[in-house]
Amino acid sequence: MQPEVLFGHALGIAPPWEVTEVSFSKESSRLDITIGFQRGTTFPCPVCGAMVPVYDTTEKEWRHMNFFQYEAYLHAKVPRVKCPNEGCGVKQVKVPWARAGSGFTLLFEALVMTMCRDMPVNVIARLFAVTDTRLWRVINTYVEMARAQEDYSDVHRVGMDETSVKRSQDYVTFFFDLDKKKLLFGTTGNGNETVKEFVADLKTHNGDPEQVTDAAIDMSKAFIKGVKEQLPNAVTTFDPFHVIKLMNDAMAKVRAEEAKLFPEILKKSRYLFLKNPENLTSEQEQRLNAIITSQNLKSTEAYLHKLNLQNVYFAESRQEAEVLLTHWYQDASKSSLKLIKKMANTVKDHWSGILSHFDSNLTTGFLEGINSLIQAAKARARGYRNPRNLIAMAFLIAGKLRFTSLPPLPT
Ligand SMILES: [Zn+2]
Repeated sequence: MQPEVLFGHALGIAPPWEVTEVSFSKESSRLDITIGFQRGTTFPCPVCGAMVPVYDTTEKEWRHMNFFQYEAYLHAKVPRVKCPNEGCGVKQVKVPWARAGSGFTLLFEALVMTMCRDMPVNVIARLFAVTDTRLWRVINTYVEMARAQEDYSDVHRVGMDETSVKRSQDYVTFFFDLDKKKLLFGTTGNGNETVKEFVADLKTHNGDPEQVTDAAIDMSKAFIKGVKEQLPNAVTTFDPFHVIKLMNDAMAKVRAEEAKLFPEILKKSRYLFLKNPENLTSEQEQRLNAIITSQNLKSTEAYLHKLNLQNVYFAESRQEAEVLLTHWYQDASKSSLKLIKKMANTVKDHWSGILSHFDSNLTTGFLEGINSLIQAAKARARGYRNPRNLIAMAFLIAGKLRFTSLPPLPT
């Protein structure tokens, strides 16, 4: 079998296209495959489908999957056809091995889309010696195509969360379907405007904002306002993850301040205070016990408030939770520690949203998981250059998208 015929089969090139030349250069470690068509071939007009003769051709090159360690390229003179039918004009024909406008073959793109589920994009870029910007363009294109197919008509319970991006002034906000446990939308910013943008996107995917019954958010004013204005029938729930995080932040500040006064006792104890007691090793547990029983420390007081607040979430009903939260509030509001008092006030101001967690039955597991999904997206998108790329990566990881326009990779 001639190499041209062999490569034609391997690439799935079918008439009128055929492989006309295969050239291999060891020096430049490249494999170049030229594809052509016979003179007089007619092609379908991309507008109306009528078979029409070639008008002219443009030389194009596509990067293909590596052939062992060699970079492989496809070349072809891509015809334009001049269709006599009304409104068609001169148009470039579609080639079966690549997407219009792409410098990669479909198989190469399929490989990239598969690899970037497990590997940072800049690593893949280095592996194929292409710029990561080109790969991001591919990823963004497929994510957009797949998202266009998405149907949000049965979205009822949503969760939203923000994360800072590289320059810590910038934020990206993500919106999740809490029932299907998937990412619905991501956008830059962290204001109430982001909720507006989410609702607009929801509508373009057949979603109905009036149908949204629950919104799990942190206690930021922007989200509270956004939900109130944009999701009129949603009960706001302040998710436990963010409530506890706020409490932990207050406690950590108290401890850090005090550690300056008593370094010999509190040095390197941050982790001991933040970790859930059941996750401490016995050695860590001993050390923490020694700290909290040794003196009348402010850190100990803050730590006990934190444990008591966490304990509220073990309640089995809203009623029970409210009793526990009331006790907690009564204690914390009498604290001499400013930060704890402040936390008590924050809890009071968000009282019903904190307790509605016990009615809405929102799966806390997933809410906590959201944070780690976002961290995973950040890691996978390493060096992501702009928030749009980070959002695309988050969709790959958590969007449960179906990439129907990608060819299956050979198995
Ligand atoms: Zn036509």
